[in-house]
Amino acid sequence: MLLYNSLSHKKEEFIPNEAGRVSMYTCGPTVYHFAHIGNLRSYIMEDVLEKYLRFTGLDVKRVMNITDVGHLTSDGDTGDDKMLKGAKREHKTVMEIAKFYTDAFFTDCAKLNIKTPDVVVPATTYIDEFIRVISSLMDKGYAYEAGGNIYFDTSKLDKYYVFGDFSEEDLEVGVREGVEADGNKKNKADFVLWFTKSKFDDQELKWDSPWGVGYPGWHIECSCISMKNLGEYLDLHCGGIDNAFPHHTNEIAQSEAYLGHKWCNYWFHVHHLNTTNGKMSKSKGEFLTVSLLEEKGYDPLVYRYFCLLSHYRKSLVFSWENLDNAVVTFNKLIAKIAPLTQEKSGEIDKAEYDRLMNGFTSALDNDLNTSLALTAVYDVLKSGANAATKLALIAEFDKVLGLNLIKKAEEKASQGAGNAADIPAEVLELVEQRKAARKDKNFALADELRDKIAALGYEVKETRQGTEINKL
Ligand code: AMP
Ligand code: ZN
Repeated sequence: MLLYNSLSHKKEEFIPNEAGRVSMYTCGPTVYHFAHIGNLRSYIMEDVLEKYLRFTGLDVKRVMNITDVGHLTSDGDTGDDKMLKGAKREHKTVMEIAKFYTDAFFTDCAKLNIKTPDVVVPATTYIDEFIRVISSLMDKGYAYEAGGNIYFDTSKLDKYYVFGDFSEEDLEVGVREGVEADGNKKNKADFVLWFTKSKFDDQELKWDSPWGVGYPGWHIECSCISMKNLGEYLDLHCGGIDNAFPHHTNEIAQSEAYLGHKWCNYWFHVHHLNTTNGKMSKSKGEFLTVSLLEEKGYDPLVYRYFCLLSHYRKSLVFSWENLDNAVVTFNKLIAKIAPLTQEKSGEIDKAEYDRLMNGFTSALDNDLNTSLALTAVYDVLKSGANAATKLALIAEFDKVLGLNLIKKAEEKASQGAGNAADIPAEVLELVEQRKAARKDKNFALADELRDKIAALGYEVKETRQGTEINKL
C-alpha cells in the first residue's frame, strides 16, 4: 500500500517494522465539549485506514489517548485550560466533564461506525509515566526548569521542525490568539512538559512531582501513552493536520530525545473539514455535532459517506446543501443494492470477484483513495456478475467502508415489500395526503393527518431518507 507520509512529503510503500503487525497511535479528543463533525472527519478517515490495514491481513494494534488534562487554548501552551473552561461553563467538576464528553465521543463514534481503538488511555491515569519520562529528559539535559515549569529545550536538537512545511504564521503559534508569550522559555519553540506555576489558582487536578505540585503538558501525554503501549518503534501516527505543528513536532522531539533513536516511521494527517466561513472549531462555541445532524433527520452514516466521497488530504467544505446531495446519492446506491438482497444466491464467479475486488483494493492501495473505492461499488453494480458475486463483494468492501450497505439495502427491500403488502391502503392514502400538506407548509393539517394515521395503528415519520411508516 502506498501512503502519503507527512515526514517525507511523499507517497511511500507502507512497510511496518515487524512483518504482519502494525502499531498505530491516534491523538484522541480533548474532552471539554462534544466532538464536532470536523474532529469526526479525522476519526472516520483514520478508522477507514485501520480497517483497510486489517483488510489486507495486517494485525493492527491501535492506541488512543483521551486528553483530560493539560491542553490549553493555545497549542503553544498559553491561554486557558480547556478542561477547566468546560467545567466552569457547566458548573461541574473537571472529572465530571471528562467522563460526560468521553462517553459522548464514543457514542458519536458508534453512530458513525468508528471502531473503538484496542487501547484507550485517559491522560490522568498515566501521571507516574509522564513524571518518569520527564525526569529522564531532565537527566539527559533535554529539559530545564524555569519560573517553576519544566520546559523541553528545542535548541538541543539537530532538527526540530521535522515536518518542515510551516508558514511564519504557524511558527507564531505560541503568541497567537491574543495571549502573551511565555517569558520563561529559552527558545521560542520550547514547550512545557510539566506546569507547576499555573496561573490558574483554581486548577482542580494537580499531582505531586519532583518539581512541585502541578500537571503535565499536553504533548508529553501522547509520547508516553504511545511508547508504553506500542514500544520504542511506532509504525503509524495519526491526527488532524492542525496537530502536525506544534503537537506532533513536540511529540517527536521529546520521544526521540528520550529514546535516542527514530521513533515513528509514518505520519498520517487528515485535512480539515471547513464550513463556508472557515475552519470548524470547538472553541468558537457554535459547532456542528452528530446529535445536530440527527435532530435535523440525517442518518449519521450519511455523514460518513459524505467524508468518504473526498480524499483525506484535501480540505472538505461542509454545507447542508452538500450533505443533501450526499443523501440523494447514498439513497440511490442503497436502492440499487436492495433488489440484489432479494435474489436467490448462486455460485460466486471467482474471476469476476477477483477482477472487481482488484478495483477496490487498487483504489485504497493508492493513498487511501476512498472516493475511487466508492466508485468500485458502482463498478460492481454495473458489472455482469451474478447477484451472489455482487453481494459478496459489497459485503467485503463494507468491512472497510463501514456504511452498513447490505443491512440498509435489506431494510429498503423489505420496506418496499412491506408497504405494498402489509400497510392498509387507507393508511397509505393518508400518508400521501400528509406529504402534500407538508409540501404546502400546511402543518396543522399534516398533524391532523398524522393523528388519523396513529388512530389506525401506524406511525409516520419524515426523515431525510424519505417517509417511514411503522406499526405502532
Ligand atoms: P481535539 O479534540 O481538539 O484535541 O481534536 C481532535 C482531533 O480532531 C485532532 O486529531 C484534530 O487534529 C482534529 N481536528 C480538529 N479540527 C478539525 C477539523 N476542522 N477537521 C478535521 N479534523 C479536525
Ligand atoms: Zn497527540
